[in-house]
Amino acid sequence: MSADWRIEVDARRCIGSGGCAGMAPAHFRMESGVATPIAAAVEPTETVIDAAESCPVEAIAVRDDDGSLIAPA
Ligand code: SF4
Repeated sequence: MSADWRIEVDARRCIGSGGCAGMAPAHFRMESGVATPIAAAVEPTETVIDAAESCPVEAIAVRDDDGSLIAPA
């Protein structure tokens, strides 16, 4: 069994591009112009790494259950 990953969005940094919600609609939604994780903990999936890597302002952090940063690299 693999441990969950944690997703955080820094709302102060997010510029509301909507890229993450478009790329990973199962994991991010837009709320008042700011991205919000749909669930704070997710099963490990490449999709959330891709979203974190693609965020133009690096507002998304994906961490393992120890708190170590997985993405963005
Ligand atoms: S990709 Fe980054 S800047 Fe764009 S909505 Fe998501 S968190 Fe915000």
